[in-house]
Amino acid sequence: MKPKFGRPIGTLSGEDIERFWAKVDIRSDDLCWEWKASRNIDDYGQFSLGGKPRRANRVAWSIAYHADIPTGLVFRHKCDNPPCCNPSHLEIGTTFDNTIDMTKRGRASHLRLLGADVLEIRRLYASSTMTQKEIANLFGVDQSTISNVTTGRRWRPLLEGPTP
Ligand SMILES: [Zn+2]
Repeated sequence: MKPKFGRPIGTLSGEDIERFWAKVDIRSDDLCWEWKASRNIDDYGQFSLGGKPRRANRVAWSIAYHADIPTGLVFRHKCDNPPCCNPSHLEIGTTFDNTIDMTKRGRASHLRLLGADVLEIRRLYASSTMTQKEIANLFGVDQSTISNVTTGRRWRPLLEGPTP
């Protein structure tokens, strides 16, 4: 699947979120959750948000991870099924790979976290056994930065709720 570049979704209301999930065929975690409403020409689900059509899979990701998708981010569908909105099949492909390479080569001493990195850090922290310290080392930043990111202090979540 060709990576697509993201743009911010914006804030979703509780009503938007209810309206959204009503259009998704929610199944168990390992199965694809296909979009039941209209699709675009590439077979991606379309969800109207603030009068603009949005890719349903992006909206699903935003809702699931309580985060907006920053501009310029690479978005991947792990299952290669465009209408799928199962958040666990959706992946933010980021500058992360480059970041690892840079860190390994020791060129990242003044690395700033990008929006993409923030999402990747949250994902790593939520879904893996890495500690904040290990993640901090990986990104070449202080542990306190990772702590801020994972608790959402520095980064406005889309929704009120527990940080994933
Ligand atoms: Zn899927």
